[in-house]
Amino acid sequence: MAWDKIQLQPSLLLLITGVMAITLLMQSIIGRGLDAQLREPENLDATILYKKRKIIEVRNKAQTVPVWHGPVEPLNIPAGSTPVIYDIPTSQPVVFLTIDDGWTKTSETQKWLLEHKLPATLFLINDAIKNNYDYFKSLQNAGMSIEDHTLTHPNLAKLRLARQQAQICGAADTYQDVFGHRPTLLRPPYGSFNAATIHAASSCGMQAIVMWRVVISKGVIYFQGDRTQLEPGDIVLMHFRPEFLDDVKDFVSETNRAHLQIGHLEDWLQ
Ligand SMILES: [Zn+2]
Repeated sequence: MAWDKIQLQPSLLLLITGVMAITLLMQSIIGRGLDAQLREPENLDATILYKKRKIIEVRNKAQTVPVWHGPVEPLNIPAGSTPVIYDIPTSQPVVFLTIDDGWTKTSETQKWLLEHKLPATLFLINDAIKNNYDYFKSLQNAGMSIEDHTLTHPNLAKLRLARQQAQICGAADTYQDVFGHRPTLLRPPYGSFNAATIHAASSCGMQAIVMWRVVISKGVIYFQGDRTQLEPGDIVLMHFRPEFLDDVKDFVSETNRAHLQIGHLEDWLQ
């Protein structure tokens, strides 16, 4: 008996090692692209961790663009405070789309946005849009809001207060002239800000600093926190870049998939 046991042990060990190796290999294959922890490339400080999932492609199928027409539950912001907001606490089935920068302007994107009239919030860099304000005026006329993403997109946390103010107030003043409406929301470039940014934003008349919970980019959806689909109150970040049309169609399909509708962020921040 004792002899048998000794003889069995090496083959049993081999079997256990083999099973463990196969399990680890399968986990790494399945984990890749599904829920691997990663740092989102847009995040300069790389302090925000995301989970990511590939988006099931339905871009070329007809999709309804669900726009929220239900009751609005505004997050009442006390006068004089400038909160940093990542989402809107609500039980209503509503999500918010924010689109940043403005470097890439194509007639296909413009046509799609004018046709579908998403109530999106556009955080624009003056340097990126000053060669074609009319492009964004047309989007504004279709119901999108123009908000502040600074003059030149610096890392605000690395600037002194006065230079942060020049960046934030400069864009707000310019957009007031160009678009006839002064921005009230700031998205700090790269999501990077410090206490001076909050002070500067407040002094420039900003009501809130708007961050995000979810990023959609190049066929992948990135979530802060442990989940796999959009949830009520999420603020979603995308960019005007060459892949924008695919990104926005992916946003619509993810919104439909989660049985949510698209709200107008400014209505929910009062
Ligand atoms: Zn940006």
